[in-house]
Amino acid sequence: MKVKNLNGTSQNKCKCDSWYAHWQRFSGQKANHCVVVGCSGTDLVGGHVQKDSTSDSSWYVIPICNACNMKKGQTLNVVDQVKLVSANVSQTCG
Ligand SMILES: [Zn+2]
Ligand SMILES: [Zn+2]
Repeated sequence: MKVKNLNGTSQNKCKCDSWYAHWQRFSGQKANHCVVVGCSGTDLVGGHVQKDSTSDSSWYVIPICNACNMKKGQTLNVVDQVKLVSANVSQTCG
């Protein structure tokens, strides 16, 4: 599945310890390493992405490593099994 890595999301905060904790809490999944295909990074953060879709411009959180998270504005190919968790606080932890 392809997602777009968003720019300028550091202002977006939630009530969880981190966006990675937010992803774990609402996905019910655990990630041992970065979900980007071919990447085995383990320094995980909750990265903000959009679906590669013109009909859904919502923000989602996925567990990716710091290096992948730095690739702002790029399209990332992530494993299909990962659950995209909404970054909309009012729909999740808010
Ligand atoms: Zn949260
Ligand atoms: Zn990575």
